[in-house]
Amino acid sequence: MWETAGTAEKSNGSMTAEMQITKTAQSRLDQVDLENPGFGVVFSDHMFEINYNDGEWQAPVVGPYRALEIAPAISTLHYGQAVFEGMKAFYNEDALRVFRPEAHHKRFNVSCQRMCIPETDYATFINGIETLLSLDKEWVPKAKGQALYIRPFIFATDNYLAVQVSETYKFLIITSPVGAYYKEGINPVSLTTSEEYVRTVRGGVGTVKTLGNYAASMLPAQKAKNQGFTQVLWLDAVERKYIEEVGTMNIFFKINGTLVTPPLEGTILPGVTRDSVIQIAKDWDVPVEERKISIDEVLRRSKDGELEEVFGTGTAAVISPVGTIRHRDTTISINGDEIGPFAKRLYDEITGIQYGARPDRYGWIHTVQPERW
Ligand SMILES: *Cc1c(COP(=O)(O)O)cnc(C)c1O
Repeated sequence: MWETAGTAEKSNGSMTAEMQITKTAQSRLDQVDLENPGFGVVFSDHMFEINYNDGEWQAPVVGPYRALEIAPAISTLHYGQAVFEGMKAFYNEDALRVFRPEAHHKRFNVSCQRMCIPETDYATFINGIETLLSLDKEWVPKAKGQALYIRPFIFATDNYLAVQVSETYKFLIITSPVGAYYKEGINPVSLTTSEEYVRTVRGGVGTVKTLGNYAASMLPAQKAKNQGFTQVLWLDAVERKYIEEVGTMNIFFKINGTLVTPPLEGTILPGVTRDSVIQIAKDWDVPVEERKISIDEVLRRSKDGELEEVFGTGTAAVISPVGTIRHRDTTISINGDEIGPFAKRLYDEITGIQYGARPDRYGWIHTVQPERW
């Protein structure tokens, strides 16, 4: 089934010099409905893989997407020593366009540091992505709102039940054609605070993309869903008062013309989309405040008619308007449960940059020109 296509000189980084590429003999593309790919349910033909052992990352290998053979005792399965990233590549007639891979790689390394995982270098990371995009260019869906989701991740592979830092790891990159993340699409989502659960505390691991955060969020998210809400709006774990973020999104409030978002003070995941929104808003001369905002303030601003818009930001949904927030026995409706003009303008600007319809004023796009494009 495998057909060896030889090796390629790809990286001049410190990690590796040569990449072994093995193309699939049988593409699965004809079994996939690229017009309705879902989110993260189908995976492209190839994946990227590097092992870490003897104190260093070994040569990278790109080969067919496949199941892995792992030992039952590997520490990831028991203790969760692992990290991940999530970014997207967009289709344009001229090239494939990856959104802010450097920012994602930087955060990947920060996550590695917190979880005692050896860091990776950018050259290897981006060469892996470029190689996958070249091999699987036909997997990038072409319609607006669709993209190829790129999932780099590293996990500990020591076959050992002691709780200790692993000496071996696997770094993989897989890709998946995706449609809109939320079933509601660009329609507003509904959020509820939780009186029972918290996401993280300062000093914990809430600022990095590591497995435990997401495992811990599943029960509260399930309860919110059972009550008819899309997601949980997290409050701080100490005072249970200040707003933090939502599921896998950061959150913004537009109050009297000013954009307000909770500050990065050790409990919030520093979103690349969050950072992009802040830069764009500042460029548009919209005042931005990164400050603590309590749920009580949000309810009061709403009552006083000062709360213009609320929206979440994240790679998956880009901008996700919030139409309803419930806190205890109070429920507010925002902008008549419609996407607001500012959220719409931001969505158009960011997706415009991503797909190439608008100028990339910030140098956020890494273009990839597959061979024989
Ligand atoms: C990934 C993530 C975000 C959004 O980050 P982006 O870089 O914008 O995709 C926000 N919150 C959490 C908890 C996340 O895992």
